[in-house]
Amino acid sequence: MNKLIQVKTKKTIPPVPQWRGSLPEPSDTTEPVDYFRHLFHIEIIEEVVRQTNLYALQRDVSRPLNVTVAEMEQFIGVCFYMSIHVLVEMVASTMSLNRWENIKRNLHFADNNNQVPGGDKLFKVRPLLDFLNDSFRGIPMDEMLCVDEQMVPFKGKSQLKQYIPMKPKRWGYKIFILADQHGIVYNFDVYTGSIQPCPGFPDISASGNIVQGRLAGCTFMDDQAMKAKGRGTHEEKMASHNGVNLFAVKWFDNRPVTLLSTFVAAKPTTQVLRWDKKKKEVVHVSRPNVVAVYNKSMGGVDLLDSLIALYRTKIRSKKWYQRIVFHMLDLTLVQAWLLYRGDCQSQMPENVQLPLLDFKIQVAKCLCMENKVSNKRKGRPSHAVVVEKNKRGPQSFVPQDPVHRDRTDHWPVHSPEKGRCKVPGCKGIVRSRCSKCAVFLCFTAERNCFVDFHKA
Ligand SMILES: [Zn+2]
Ligand SMILES: [Zn+2]
Repeated sequence: MNKLIQVKTKKTIPPVPQWRGSLPEPSDTTEPVDYFRHLFHIEIIEEVVRQTNLYALQRDVSRPLNVTVAEMEQFIGVCFYMSIHVLVEMVASTMSLNRWENIKRNLHFADNNNQVPGGDKLFKVRPLLDFLNDSFRGIPMDEMLCVDEQMVPFKGKSQLKQYIPMKPKRWGYKIFILADQHGIVYNFDVYTGSIQPCPGFPDISASGNIVQGRLAGCTFMDDQAMKAKGRGTHEEKMASHNGVNLFAVKWFDNRPVTLLSTFVAAKPTTQVLRWDKKKKEVVHVSRPNVVAVYNKSMGGVDLLDSLIALYRTKIRSKKWYQRIVFHMLDLTLVQAWLLYRGDCQSQMPENVQLPLLDFKIQVAKCLCMENKVSNKRKGRPSHAVVVEKNKRGPQSFVPQDPVHRDRTDHWPVHSPEKGRCKVPGCKGIVRSRCSKCAVFLCFTAERNCFVDFHKA
């Protein structure tokens, strides 16, 4: 059951909820990878590097892993590439599969030696969850937020696994998400066991209990009594929590729903049409205002779910907590894209904004290549499969990612074919290319577009 919460106190209801979140200085950056890094901070990566290296030593002191921050970024970039099946070549030029597997095998977020028996069930991923919650909390909040449940599909063995018959993926981990209608997440919590219903309240699924926890001592008519009074019956209560007035409304339509809000209550009610099975006719049912507002702003978590499912990282792992890690990477990436889209709305037309797939490819490319030296393999030009087919916009070069100016590992190479130089305004047809950018660039006695391009 979903609940409506408004976090800020506000007396009036905006007619259409406007998304008002943005990064602190949106004009500073439009690079997809910056949006991702803003949420998935370098501190998270540094901690993962520390814990992963420590774990490798705990396993076998004679075989240190010595993974670096740059490699860990590449590891994540490869995870993203793997969710997009066509980009196998990109993976190969980033790191060897062996190395990637080795990092995955050792991937750790916390020191096992600090685990206490019977303690936090999410001990192994807790630092990651805390880091991410911290960054999500920094996003300016929308007016209307909902708490909803999300399933992380998982079929292996885990004591945290849940079964929810109502969801399309019925087995997996359950996450509570506080999100707005656009799917932007402000807070989340991985479910680790039952959340006790409040005294005087029926047990109405865990997300309901989480919300009802704010309303201890406030009780409603029971379901049977409400049913007896007929469809459209509602009851309203007011409570105060930390100085904020909360309105709780229980409404009986064909089943009872309970909603909690800081800014909207039962009045005014509106009439909605419903089919009455017994009478076999359409009847008018009175609906409290809070339900109407809720219906308008719900659905953010469903939207988020469908975006994550589009390019879900499907990496097999025997370790249960790694499924949560990969899910959190996907969730953070979608979150970064939603924020990017929000910022773009006022700045550029829709047709030049990156769709989720291109956004993900760019983030992956930067994580894998920016400031990094490629994993050179014999007879294979490194990074040669840069996604060159630019469906949108003019052919003049618009730098689409910051890799071309990272001053790392760009080498002029000769190519058997000729091609047009990528520098805007240059009409040169040449055989010289950049090994990393995989674009044609003049490198002749007359013109050095190679340098111009990389300084742009
Ligand atoms: Zn280059
Ligand atoms: Zn040129």
